[in-house]
Parts: sequence; structure tokens; C-alpha cells
Amino acid sequence: MKFENETQSIFINGKWRAVDSQNTDTVYNPATLEPITKIASGGKSEATEAIQTANKAFKTWSEMTGRKRSRVLYKAYELMLEEVNRLGEILTTEQGKPLKEAKGEIKGAANFLLWYAEEASRAYGEWIPSSVSSKRLLVIPQPVGVVGAITPWNFPASMITRKIAPALAAGCTVVLKPAPETPLSAIEIVKILERAGMPEGVVNLVTGDAEQIGTAMLTNKDVRLITFTGSTEVGKHLMRESADHVKKISLELGGHAPIIVFDDADLDKAAALTLASKFRNNGQTCICANRIYVHDSVKDAFSKKLTEKVKQLKVGNGLHEETDLGPLINEQASEKVQNQLDDAVKKGANIIHGGKKWNGGMDGYFYEPTILSAIDDDMLIMNEETFGPLMPIQTFTDEDVAIDKANDTDYGLAAYIFTETTNRAIRVSEKLEYGIVGVNDVFPALAEAPFGGIKQSGVGKEGGHYGMDEFLEKKYISMGIK
Ligand code: NAP
Repeated sequence: MKFENETQSIFINGKWRAVDSQNTDTVYNPATLEPITKIASGGKSEATEAIQTANKAFKTWSEMTGRKRSRVLYKAYELMLEEVNRLGEILTTEQGKPLKEAKGEIKGAANFLLWYAEEASRAYGEWIPSSVSSKRLLVIPQPVGVVGAITPWNFPASMITRKIAPALAAGCTVVLKPAPETPLSAIEIVKILERAGMPEGVVNLVTGDAEQIGTAMLTNKDVRLITFTGSTEVGKHLMRESADHVKKISLELGGHAPIIVFDDADLDKAAALTLASKFRNNGQTCICANRIYVHDSVKDAFSKKLTEKVKQLKVGNGLHEETDLGPLINEQASEKVQNQLDDAVKKGANIIHGGKKWNGGMDGYFYEPTILSAIDDDMLIMNEETFGPLMPIQTFTDEDVAIDKANDTDYGLAAYIFTETTNRAIRVSEKLEYGIVGVNDVFPALAEAPFGGIKQSGVGKEGGHYGMDEFLEKKYISMGIK
């Protein structure tokens, strides 16, 4: 795939620009490790200019009616859907996930544009019945202001529209910094918004030095909200540094999702969905299954069904039709997977399937889908986010013990249970300390639903009307009347 206009990756005040040709970053295809293109490496000055531009554009954009803002988002939704194939190919080329998943992500990304196009005219306020007869009390929602949005590489399209669409619907303006591994999807999304009629300065894109761009956002009073998706470590840094200006902050951070398979589960469904959750995007998903707890009485049947399915998975270049698992994003990710596996095996784990790097004649960091049993709680794999295709299976006999184990982590993003009993589904869902619980379901992320973690997995929600609330201040007006 050929990319034109290399280095033209910075978009400020409606103009694409490059920085000088010495100052570029190379984007690689993670399947082949071949360079795809170069992008501009912007820094403090570009970020600062983008913030000033967004601040200037805020007045006009925020004063437009929701209906008018909606039209731009709706048009962008249509344009994105028209281009699912091309955008999917770009996404796979820079990120590695199988093309079918990449196209699914583009459709999901477009859904955020649609949903918030509809929501733009529904930012309701409130009329509060007053306890004092000479007063009338109103609450009006107003856009927060300029938003600094920072996104990761694992979902390079949907993580952007999940932030930008509600921000724009609410009347905010945006400075976006995408991940350096996957800037091309970000560029395409901004071009779509441009074609959809987005006024100059409303969305600005700055690729480049994370530290400098982040610092420019954090130290500028005009940035009123930082919305970040990425690791808990970087999230904590942004939260700390946001304190100086008391910025609003919305954080979508790491996860360590447990799946609990009870003895009354539909085992075919549980095996199929556990596989889908674990190996989607090669395990590089914040809500993907990281720990599997299976009731002892169904362990053999469940493991057999699962292993049969895992054996059929094909590793390879995501651009090839038959591929189920693409490469890991980089060497560091591959080392983390190997390290967790070595640690587990050293501490007594059995490898049921897989267990090594996959060599299919490409230079990328591929790994076999791997199932492990005889798992102890002290193994690294049971205590850290894996972000790779390792599936540790542990057994339990008591419901409360399974819940305690599932909750025994600082993360609190998503948890899943498989049971055919409604009482158990409700009882266990209520006890799980997670922002999201999937009951016989591992794909909870939808544009209309609130997505977000508790504990050290994040602050705030994305998606649904909750997602738009993050970008709205509630102003209280107290009116004295005669
Ligand atoms: P990351 O290393 O935290 O990076 C995320 C973004 O933050 C990148 O654009 C990165 O740019 C930028 N960044 C890093 N340091 C920064 C700084 N000091 N100031 C400003 N920006 C900075 O995370 P990742 O490896 O890309 O993504 C994987 C993580 O994201 C996993 O932990 C995953 O669970 C989490 N995630 C969570 C959700 C959710 O919804 N909860 C969704 C997807 C992913 P550079 O790479 O240039 O440093």
C-alpha cells in the first residue's frame, strides 16, 4: 500500500502541514516490519498553536445549534461507511489486526459518529422545583471548552471517534494526538471530518513527541479537559499533571479481565466467546479475557472444546483473508508475552496448546495462540495485563472464591461470566468490582452504552449519553423573580 503526501500529518486551523524533512517518524507495518511512510514529528510549538486555534474556533462552534453540529458528524458517518474497505486496509497495514476485524472497527468507529450526531441536539438541562417561591432554578449544559485527546494504537480508529464525536456534539473543539504506531487512521478520520464540512480549527491533529505535546496540553490553561485512552501508568501521570490547572480528566486505562465459567454455563457458547474475547486483536484489547476461571466439574469439557477451536486459528499477515491472529505491535509486546509465559512455566504451568513465537516467514512479532493450565495466583500472568495471545485457565469450586479471585486486582475495567441461571447472573454481576460486566457476552462495547473502568482502570465513561456528559459542564442559574 502506498501513502502519498508523506509527512503531511499535522492539521492546524484547517491546513495540512509537514515539519522539516529532518524531523520525521517512520510508520512500520508490524507484520513485515517494512516502513510504510513517514509522518511529521511535531512538538511543543505545533501543539501550542493547535490549542490556540482550537480555542479561537470554540466560540463559533459552541454557539452553533446542536442540529448544525450534528450535520457534520452525520456526513462524516456516511463518508466513513463509504470507505470501510480502504480504511480497513490502512488500519491493518499500520496496526496488524486481521482485515475482517479492521473493517469491523471502522464500522464501530462510524457508529460513534452516528450516535453522537443524533445526541448533539439532545443535551438537556433541568428545571429544579424551588423550595423558595421567589426563585426559579435552572441547570444548563455547556461545552467544557478545548479538549486535548490522546489515543492508543490498539484501536486506532474507534478510540478516536469515541472521543471526538461526543466532544464535537457537545460543542467542544479538539487537539488530537494519536499513537505514533498508528497515525494513518487518525489522518484519515480528520480528512473525513474535513470533507464533511468541519469548520477550520475545530479539530486539530498533532503527531509527534508525546512528552512535548502532552506537556503543551497539560500546561495550557485553555485546555479544559484531557481525555486519554492508554496505559494506567501514563494515565496516572496525566492525572497528576492535570492538577495544576484543575483540568477535567477522563481516563480509559488498562484492564485485567477475568472470565468465570460456572457449572451451569452453556459450554459451547462459553468456549466460543472466550476464544473470541481472548484472541481478538491478538489479545491486544483492554477488555479482552486475561484470566479464565472454570468450575472444576466442567473444566475438562470446556478445555477440550476450547482447544479444538484454538487449534483452527490461523496466524499470519492481517491482510490475508484467512488470518485470525496478526502480529503483536512490537518487540516489547512480544517480550512481555514471552516473559509471562516463561514465568508461568517456571512456576508449574502446563502448555496445553501453542507456547512459542510463530515463524511464518515474516519479520513481524507473531506468537502462537496459547492455552495454559495448572495456574497459580502468584504467576505474573494472573497479576498483569498481558496484551497478547496467552490464555491461563484456573479452576474453582466455590462461587464466592471465584468472585474474590476475579476482584483481587487493582484493575476494574471489564469482567465476564457464563451462566444460564438468572439469579446467579444478577448476584455475581453485582459483586464484581468492574465498570463493565458481560453476562454470556464478551462484546459489550457499543456506541450507545457507557464504557469505562473503575479502580485503576479509569475515570469517566465513553459512549452513550454518559460519554457526552464528560464534555459538558452543568451551569446552575438561580433566578429571583417577582
Ligand atoms: P500508552 O503507552 O499509555 O500510550 C497511549 C498514548 O499516550 C500514546 O499516544 C502515547 O504516545 C501517549 N503518551 C505516552 N506518554 C505520554 C505523555 N507523557 N504525555 C502525553 N501522551 C503520552 O498506551 P498504549 O501502549 O498505546 O496502549 C495500550 C494500553 O491502552 C493498554 O494498557 C490498554 O489496556 C489501554 N487501553 C484502554 C482502553 C480503554 O478503553 N480502557 C482502550 C484501549 C486501550 P507515545 O507512544 O508517543 O508515547
